[in-house]
Amino acid sequence: MITRFAPSPTGPLHLGHAFSALTAHDMARAAGGAFLLRIEDIDQARSRPAWEAQITDDLRWLGIDWPEPVLRQSTRGPAYQRVLKDLFQNGFLYGCACNRRDILAAASAPQEGAEELPIGPDGILYPGTCRGTQTALLPAGTQGIAHRLDMARAATGLYSFTETGEGPNGETGTISFSAADAAALLGDVVLARRDGFVAYHLAVVLDDAAQGITHVVRGQDLFEATRIHVVLQRLLGLPTPIYHHHRLIRDEAGKRLAKRDDARAITKYREDGAGPADIRRMVGL
Ligand code: GLU
Repeated sequence: MITRFAPSPTGPLHLGHAFSALTAHDMARAAGGAFLLRIEDIDQARSRPAWEAQITDDLRWLGIDWPEPVLRQSTRGPAYQRVLKDLFQNGFLYGCACNRRDILAAASAPQEGAEELPIGPDGILYPGTCRGTQTALLPAGTQGIAHRLDMARAATGLYSFTETGEGPNGETGTISFSAADAAALLGDVVLARRDGFVAYHLAVVLDDAAQGITHVVRGQDLFEATRIHVVLQRLLGLPTPIYHHHRLIRDEAGKRLAKRDDARAITKYREDGAGPADIRRMVGL
């Protein structure tokens, strides 16, 4: 078994992250497997070396260790670009110049009066405005143009993955869905952002495969996105790992902890004299 924890160094490690890292670490250790760390620093504008240093220091303090060197997404640009180019040349990607406002306007227009806009893992489902336009023919990496996966072309047949944890509605065991479900529930997700960087969905699939991850342990907030990852794995000829989505750590008001939630930062608890065992107890481990 190979598990991983994949923090983005854009803020402090908080209780929710600690729970995720400890769960992935404990699972690997119990199975005599390996736990890997991956630094998801693809967002160069928001990532800071100081956050990375703090996160790794907190993880070690929690009693977690991992083999060096760690994989950094910032070193993987050429690998991501190769795949984007390939997908584009095979007609699975199209360029999209729409901004949020365009998408909202186009998504609302045809169903004026309809109760709700269809929502996917990344927000409002893209209504397909740019599919088949001149913009769509501009290669991935073109400045100012995002690239979307043509889901109806990319998804084929039936899909399934094994969930050993639980989705937000108790989904567990074998999770199946069809290509038609993928098009209807996921839509044409962005795989290359307008700033030229690879999007999370593609990076995570390529990195999990490159690191040989057998069990992806992460929060329930990513359960819906897993279908996108499973579609991409088949399209790229990569194995689908086992998924283990865990409950989210919430504050007293029941709200999910966010990166900005400095009050729950592990450093704060450390300063206040808490030990690693106290953190484990706080997150219910
Ligand atoms: N970097 C992502 C996060 O911090 C991790 C996503 C994943 O585990 O797949 O939310």
